[in-house]
Amino acid sequence: MKVGFLGLGSMGSSMARNLLKAGHEITVWNRTRSRAEEFNNAGATVSGTPGEASAGAEVVFTMLADDHALEEVMFGPGKILESLAAGAIHISASTISVALSRSLGAAHRRQRQHYISAPVFGRPDAAAAAKLFIVAAGPKEQIERCRPLFDALGQKTFVAGEDAAAANLIKLTGNFLITAVIEGLGESMALVRKSGVEANLFLEILTNSLFAAPIYKTYGGIIASEKYEPAGFKLPLGLKDNRLLLAAAEENAVPMPMASLVRDRFLAALAQGMGESDWSAIARISAKNAGL
Ligand code: NAP
Repeated sequence: MKVGFLGLGSMGSSMARNLLKAGHEITVWNRTRSRAEEFNNAGATVSGTPGEASAGAEVVFTMLADDHALEEVMFGPGKILESLAAGAIHISASTISVALSRSLGAAHRRQRQHYISAPVFGRPDAAAAAKLFIVAAGPKEQIERCRPLFDALGQKTFVAGEDAAAANLIKLTGNFLITAVIEGLGESMALVRKSGVEANLFLEILTNSLFAAPIYKTYGGIIASEKYEPAGFKLPLGLKDNRLLLAAAEENAVPMPMASLVRDRFLAALAQGMGESDWSAIARISAKNAGL
């Protein structure tokens, strides 16, 4: 398919490469152009504006940092909304707010374009290995049209109905659960360590018994080895997801005290200079609070 790909960060660069590998015709755009130039040799076309990458595309993907970044490439002259053809599809893979997802859907409908929300679970290593889990929501027939693209990016695509914003709510809630696990692991490992038990032994026992889930293995490994740099998922992006989750919770009058606690952990970590660290570096706060 003829695909525009906007946003070549930790996740987007691997996703664009996997689409190329699967034989799709890709035009890339990135705010910092040097990152896009790297795709010249890989067989992609490099475009100068979001609009250029969208014009003539059957599908345009966005994999950008946050709501603000997506709004920057969507609205205005030379941007996606103005340039995408009627009948073409915008797949938003970024983790964005439920509110923005809703308004993007409405804006695309007015232009007779299609909008699919398709946030992903999996870190940059999973993106590189085409092992992402994709949660797609939007018009059913358009999701089916995009199956070959999703198959090139992930190990499984879940369809979460026709309401695109539902995919964003599922993604934000899933990320909240990950932060709850990170917080739990951080507190547990602080206790284990301070008591003189080896963190890796603790982890080995738990992840080979009742906690044999990828999330405990991945984050348990990072926290046990205290290897928070280089970041797979940057801490400020984790705070952004927490903010979007709490906004959705407030809209629905759903108290989420654990999410509020995690928010303060993120703020403490930022205040202590961890802005370039992985979001799991909030475990450092638990270690510090324990005097480790
Ligand atoms: P990243 O490495 O920080 O990349 C962010 C991308 O957004 C870059 O291409 C950046 O361009 C672009 N960008 C930022 N602000 C912009 C603006 N104002 N206008 C235009 N472009 C802008 O982030 P990432 O880890 O790839 O994450 C991308 C999205 O995927 C986020 O929504 C994140 O929450 C989500 N996600 C991440 C992970 C993960 O583990 N990393 C997993 C699942 C989902 P420049 O190159 O110019 O900075």
